[in-house]
Amino acid sequence: MDKQQEYVLRTVEERDIRFVRLWFTDVLGMLKSVAITSSEIEGAFAEGIGFDGSAVDGFARVQESDMLAVPDASTFQVLPWRGEEAGVARMFCDIQTPEGEPFAADPRHVLRRNLARAGDMGFSFYVHPEMEFFLFNGPDDPTPLDQGGYFDLTPLDVQSDFRRQAIQTLEAMGISVEYSHHEVAPSQHEIDLRYADALAMADNVMTYRLVLKEVAMRRGIYATFMPKPLAEHWGSAMHTHVSMFDGDTNAFYDPSDPHHLSDIGKKFVAGVLAHAREITAVCCQWVNSYKRLVPGFEAPVYVSWGRHNRSSLIRIPMYKPHKGASARVEFRAPDPACNPYLAFSLILAAGLRGIEKGYELPAEAEDNIYEMTQAERAAAGIDRLPHNLGEALHVMEDSELVAEALGEHVFDFFLRNKHTEWEQYRAQVTPFEIDKYLPML
Ligand code: GLN
Ligand code: MG
Ligand code: MG
Ligand code: MG
Repeated sequence: MDKQQEYVLRTVEERDIRFVRLWFTDVLGMLKSVAITSSEIEGAFAEGIGFDGSAVDGFARVQESDMLAVPDASTFQVLPWRGEEAGVARMFCDIQTPEGEPFAADPRHVLRRNLARAGDMGFSFYVHPEMEFFLFNGPDDPTPLDQGGYFDLTPLDVQSDFRRQAIQTLEAMGISVEYSHHEVAPSQHEIDLRYADALAMADNVMTYRLVLKEVAMRRGIYATFMPKPLAEHWGSAMHTHVSMFDGDTNAFYDPSDPHHLSDIGKKFVAGVLAHAREITAVCCQWVNSYKRLVPGFEAPVYVSWGRHNRSSLIRIPMYKPHKGASARVEFRAPDPACNPYLAFSLILAAGLRGIEKGYELPAEAEDNIYEMTQAERAAAGIDRLPHNLGEALHVMEDSELVAEALGEHVFDFFLRNKHTEWEQYRAQVTPFEIDKYLPML
């Protein structure tokens, strides 16, 4: 047993933890959990806990269904919302085959593999997501609970207590929060996490979604990460700020550049731009995700970058020059209902490809690209993001980069699963059509 595992056993003893939930994530980013009693922990570290992989979306086929969940002791946290009840803790798990090999469809393994590639090139990868969400009465009632707007702190923002409680809970689980505020749409909020290495951050995103739903439930309301619940309002994004470090040095920082962006940083951005259309299906994985990516709501629609322009797909945020360590780029496509392990993997893979192949950064889009005509955009070489899930899947299918970064198993499952979803949606007759066509045709 290593030091961290010993620490877990000691803490379980000292804090009278009765149950430990072992968490992992399926291919679509849904959290899975199996509870073990504290007496089982030592065995779980040594051998893992067996489960039926064929019952988990995107995992194994029935004939090869035995899987092992092996807890990662470094992720041990006591669940703070249990209050006075018997203590419960959680650990994230890595999934293994019965032979003890990492399981190819485990999203955590996919991210580990991509991080190892960055490591081979001398880089570590850091992420800071800005996660937005809505609060409603329940999943069947998307009526806004307040009429607040961006940064409002008035009685209109009745949910500032919710944010405080959510932040306290996150911090109690070792997740540092940087900002929180009311967002633009009524009943929409944002809580931003302080940057961390990508694997810890993907775990944090999973925890964040659960914590917010848990805190909301305890207050008799409902938190949702659905990208666009209200057609007439802004959608919810997970703007993802990324940076790479070479040892202690931020590899994206160059004080002599007008954007303070290093050559490595520029090639990284060029890579993400060049492959943006291919990685959209994973960053925006639901039919509903594409209802957010429309003009008029500060969501990206075109493949462009800029310093200030918030319609850009990639923004280079301003930071104080003496804070070179915080140099980073903001990729604005992902929404908070993505699988963070897979989304971070693909952003990284696209950026690394830009560095490896020495991609050239296209010109900055200074003008508001929404106001350009189609011809002006074409002349400026500005492509657009896919209009819907079907188009995004079509682009992804041909992507050698995505196939390699996700691995064959995840790539195939994802495409199959999402094609089915898209075909189901395509066959729907919507209220829009009934309202518009039935009286007229
Ligand atoms: N929520 C918007 C989006 O969908 C952006 C608005 C903002 O955070 N400034 O990207
Ligand atoms: Mg923000
Ligand atoms: Mg925001
Ligand atoms: Mg942002």
